[in-house]
Amino acid sequence: MKPFKLASREYRKQDTIIEINTGDKPILIGEGYCTVIAGPCAVESRESYIDIACFLKSAGVRILRGGLFKPRTSPYSFRGLGVQGVDIMLEVRQLTGLSLVTEVMDARDLDVLYDHIDILQIGSRNMQNFSLLEEVGKLDKPVLLKRGLSATIEEWLLAAEYILSGGNQKVILCERGIRTFEPYTRNTIDIGAIPLIKQLSHLPIIADPSHATGKWQMVTPVAKAAVAAGADGVMIEVHQEPDRALSDGKQSLTPENFLDMYEQVAKVAALNGKVLN
Ligand code: PEP
Ligand code: MN
Repeated sequence: MKPFKLASREYRKQDTIIEINTGDKPILIGEGYCTVIAGPCAVESRESYIDIACFLKSAGVRILRGGLFKPRTSPYSFRGLGVQGVDIMLEVRQLTGLSLVTEVMDARDLDVLYDHIDILQIGSRNMQNFSLLEEVGKLDKPVLLKRGLSATIEEWLLAAEYILSGGNQKVILCERGIRTFEPYTRNTIDIGAIPLIKQLSHLPIIADPSHATGKWQMVTPVAKAAVAAGADGVMIEVHQEPDRALSDGKQSLTPENFLDMYEQVAKVAALNGKVLN
C-alpha cells in the first residue's frame, strides 16, 4: 500500500463527497460538483463583511470565506480581528444563510470556532503542524487542508492522513500553488497535482487561484484551468475595494470581476459535467 493509507484510492475506490448541512439545502463537495467558495482574505469590519456576503449570496455563492486569524509574514501587518470577529461571521451567517469557512491557526481557538464555523481551514503554513492536525482529526467538522508552501504531494496526503486517522473523514484538499524559482507570481500553481490527486486519493480537491498567483488578472484563467483539470471547486478572494484591502488586495477580484469569473467557471464546469454549487 501507499504510505498514506486511509487517503488512498486503494483503501477507498469511491470518491468521497462531503456534505455541508448549514444552509437551506445541503452543499456537496467532491467529484461531480464544482463548489465556488468566495469572500475576502480577512474579515475587516462588520459593514464590509455583510456587504460582500450579500453580494456573493446574490451571485449564487453558498460558502463564504473570511480570515479571522491571518498568518502574516510580518508581525506588523494586519493579523485579523481574531475571536472578536466570530460574532460578525455569525451575524452574517444568520443574515444570509451562507456557510462559513475560516482558518484555524491554533488548537486553542477550536473551542470558539467549532460551534460557528462550518469548514475549518488549515493554512499552508500549518500543513505540517501535526498537533493541530491531530486536534481537527478528533472533530466531526469538514477540514479544508491547504497544500504546504513547499510540500510534495506525498507530504500533503500524509498530512491528510493525520486527520483521517484521528477519525475525521471530512477532508477537502486545496491546491494553492507552491514555491518555485519564479518570482513573477506569488506561487506556482501545480495544475498537474489535481488529476494526480484524483488518481491517488478519493478525497475532494479544490484550487485557490488567488494565493496560487497573487495577481487578480490571473485568477479567472487559472480557476478555469483548475476546473478543466478536474478540480471539485475553487476558492476565490473578493473585495469591494481591492486597493484598500488590509491583506491580499492585489489578488482580490472586485465584485464585477467576480461575476465574470463565476460565469466562465460555470461554463467549464458544465463542459466537464459538474454541477455548480
Ligand atoms: C488564506 O486562504 O487566507 C491563506 C492564508 O492561504 P494560504 O494558507 O494558502 O497561504
Ligand atoms: Mn489571503
